[in-house]
Amino acid sequence: MCASHVIIGDGIAGSSAAETIREADPDADVTVITEEGEALYNRILIKEFAKGKLPEAPVSIHDPDWYEDRDIDLQMNTVVTEVDTDAHEVHTHAGDVYEYDKLLVATGGTPTQLPVDGSDAEGIHHFWTFEDARAIKQSAEEADSGVVVGAGLLGIDLAAICGAQDVEAHYLMRGNAWWRYALSEDGAEIIHDALREKNVTPVFDSGVDHFEPDDDGHVTAAIDPNGERFEADFAGVAIGLDFNTEFLRGSGLEMDNGIVVNEHMQTNVEDVYAAGDITQFHDVILGERAQNGAWGSAKEQGSIAGSNMVADEPAETFEWVSSYSITHFDFPFLSFGHPTLGDKTVEKKYDEGTWRRVAIKDGRVIGGVLIGDLAPQSGLKQLARRQVDVSGKEELLLAESIDVDAFEEAAAAE
Ligand SMILES: Cc1cc2nc3c(=O)[nH]c(=O)nc-3n(C[C@H](O)[C@H](O)[C@H](O)COP(=O)(O)OP(=O)(O)OC[C@H]3O[C@@H](n4cnc5c(N)ncnc54)[C@H](O)[C@@H]3O)c2cc1C
Repeated sequence: MCASHVIIGDGIAGSSAAETIREADPDADVTVITEEGEALYNRILIKEFAKGKLPEAPVSIHDPDWYEDRDIDLQMNTVVTEVDTDAHEVHTHAGDVYEYDKLLVATGGTPTQLPVDGSDAEGIHHFWTFEDARAIKQSAEEADSGVVVGAGLLGIDLAAICGAQDVEAHYLMRGNAWWRYALSEDGAEIIHDALREKNVTPVFDSGVDHFEPDDDGHVTAAIDPNGERFEADFAGVAIGLDFNTEFLRGSGLEMDNGIVVNEHMQTNVEDVYAAGDITQFHDVILGERAQNGAWGSAKEQGSIAGSNMVADEPAETFEWVSSYSITHFDFPFLSFGHPTLGDKTVEKKYDEGTWRRVAIKDGRVIGGVLIGDLAPQSGLKQLARRQVDVSGKEELLLAESIDVDAFEEAAAAE
């Protein structure tokens, strides 16, 4: 009898699992269920679409034929409402039931709503799907003024969309710097200046107390906790993700702000795997539980999960240093690994547009942020992947180029 694999979610994690399963087992039944009304597209590129820099077509990755050609059953516009792990069944909003031998949950997250008055006004946007991007593009094209909330990697996309769409915007941040958990003021200042050049003004120690809608229910302004009023007929909110696990209530799966999996993407429940943003995985490099929110990492996790779902015994291990780049400015920006974790950081500002920070845990590189010069990324990521002991030589992590062999030889000589 052929095995039946059900995958919930057709993001990059779910889709790459489906592809891997099909390649490994030509006879398996493979079903992919997605709440969205379109097949896999490139979530990374939807910001470029919303900026008005890219038409729709290149954003799409798979059309429904891609699934048909591979005999993968794609169920779109279908919400999974329950998983019965005892009966090995997946239930949908339409009352359909899918039986599985192996199940993959790759449902990612949904943007957290800002819990303030007026946040349901028209013109206020959260950003995750292609549908969101279409609405953001239209709204930004019509807007003159905007506010953006959320000083992280998604918030800066919304700020860049304002810049590209000629929306004069204020970027309201809680602390004194953009992404202050990963950047010092020195590093963040490079980003602040670049935002100002795009007519996006960073406002520090701020946020949103409430939004003011007009009589038609359209946003007109954001009032910050200091009582300052910022005119806005467009608002973008990116304050985090709520992981899509509601339908797993009663399933017995271990949760911890996401689904807990081991390094093979296995959950604590037999025959159930998880991959992508939704996982709290055992990071073998970091030596502790971690979560990634990056395309490459989700793709690799999906592929590892798919291999292990097909195998008799899980053999593939997720061992990965993730990276995330920002391409909105005329200088490059890259964060890798876990730049906000660890017990120590070293950093240096080289000139007005070049800055580096490396995060270290127990003498090992675990992540970092590079602005302006990305050449050291390969060496730094190798040091992280190989878990080379850099104790006592941390300053060399700030050298112009990274000599991985020298670090390794020095560590071996000790
Ligand atoms: C605007 C934007 C820009 C980004 N830029 C970058 C970048 O530059 N670099 C980078 O590395 N990463 C970037 N990311 C993050 C990256 O896109 C994600 O890490 C990645 O897409 C996660 O993939 P995933 O498959 O785990 O989850 P998702 O892509 O979120 O897919 C999950 C899917 O599951 C579906 N689903 C959820 N619940 C159910 C249910 N109950 N029933 C059926 N279906 C369900 C959802 O509708 C969704 O289609 C960006 C993200 C966004 C939104």
